[in-house]
Amino acid sequence: MKIHEYQAKEVLRRFGVPLLAGGAATTPDGAVEAAGKVGGSIWVVKSQIHAGGRGKGRFVEEVDASAIALAAAGKDAPGKGGVRLARSLDEVRESAAAMLGKTLVTKQTGDEGKLVRTVYVEGGCDIDRELYLSVLLDRSNHRILFMASEAGGMDIEEVAEHSPDAIKKVWINPVTGLGGWQARQLAFGLGIRGGAVRNAVKLLQGIYRAYVECDCSMIEINPLVVTKGGDVLALDAKMTFDDNAMFRHKDLAEYRDEHEEDPAEIEAAKWNLSYVNLDGNIGCMVNGAGLAMSTMDIIKMKGAEPANFLDVGGGAGKDQVSAAFRIITSDPNVKGILVNIFGGIMKCDVIAEGVIAAVHEVGLSVPLVVRLSGTNADLGKEILSNTDLDIIPASTLEEAADAIVKAVGA
Ligand code: ADP
Ligand code: MG
Repeated sequence: MKIHEYQAKEVLRRFGVPLLAGGAATTPDGAVEAAGKVGGSIWVVKSQIHAGGRGKGRFVEEVDASAIALAAAGKDAPGKGGVRLARSLDEVRESAAAMLGKTLVTKQTGDEGKLVRTVYVEGGCDIDRELYLSVLLDRSNHRILFMASEAGGMDIEEVAEHSPDAIKKVWINPVTGLGGWQARQLAFGLGIRGGAVRNAVKLLQGIYRAYVECDCSMIEINPLVVTKGGDVLALDAKMTFDDNAMFRHKDLAEYRDEHEEDPAEIEAAKWNLSYVNLDGNIGCMVNGAGLAMSTMDIIKMKGAEPANFLDVGGGAGKDQVSAAFRIITSDPNVKGILVNIFGGIMKCDVIAEGVIAAVHEVGLSVPLVVRLSGTNADLGKEILSNTDLDIIPASTLEEAADAIVKAVGA
């Protein structure tokens, strides 16, 4: 589960990570009020969406023909991105009004962008250096990994691609945790010197504790800044939690923002279905994660692309099967559906009935291939063949894949 920057900062603050004061708002007036509480005379207004690259993003509403003409002439377009400096309360209001209710397009949002519903107003900071820090689980080494680079700021992806040596890595022993010596080593590696080292160590240890105690899968601080006064601060924060551990973090679960999530994935979660939306056009309904993976593999081997991963689970009933079917057909990219079920605990006749009920409910406008094998497979096939539905039966996985790929004309 992902959360917004302002929420991540709320969490990190509890772990003693040094941050600037700030407040979230959903209206321009609220933004001015938040700026008043923060105090000072310079603020940064930040669009809150579950995507990075906001600073260099553009609001769809502001990118009109004249902006494009300006850009072509090498001049700045009037839009100033999703992170803006404000030198007065009026400018705070203006920036918040320019962001709220508008669609922000960044490198990470795709062309359709994301609607900004909340802004975060933070004190402006006198940045000396912008560094990069991220923490994640390195599965191949079974350890938490800190990655840091002096080339922080807005283009870390390019650094990773073109000069991977500029990224320093430190693996953490799970028994001893992040040692003070390791934190100091990281700080030195980042060119931090003098009194700022202690501040960096405090930040790194706070981040480590937050990562472990909140069951994170990723924390990214980009930029991690050193100020002119030697403070070390997390200026941006991305935090992702391991979904499998959310049951023990009810407080963090409250941070969930369903607006940011794929509606089909939310619906699937309600029905206990493992569903991941993908880019292809063949919808798959399969039971068992392994069978789902091999079904996707064979579709690819046959030269086509799966539209989703969907595991209905071992003990799905008719209602779950119907829900799965509805979710698959709600994806406009789906040009054909492959149902591939191995009846073990789950009986093939139940699947057949679920498919029929779903087709009656939502209709069927694309070819449907069904392969049933295992418990009550014959009964299931009989149920399907006794309907007037246009279903293409298949006996083996290979036959099923060939049939659906041919049917969608891929
Ligand atoms: P994103 O990564 O989505 O572009 P950031 O929060 O990293 O958004 O902000 C982009 C840039 O804006 C930062 O690299 C930094 O230079 C500047 N910035 C962000 N917050 C502040 C702040 N509070 N004070 C001064 N500059 C800031
Ligand atoms: Mg950033």
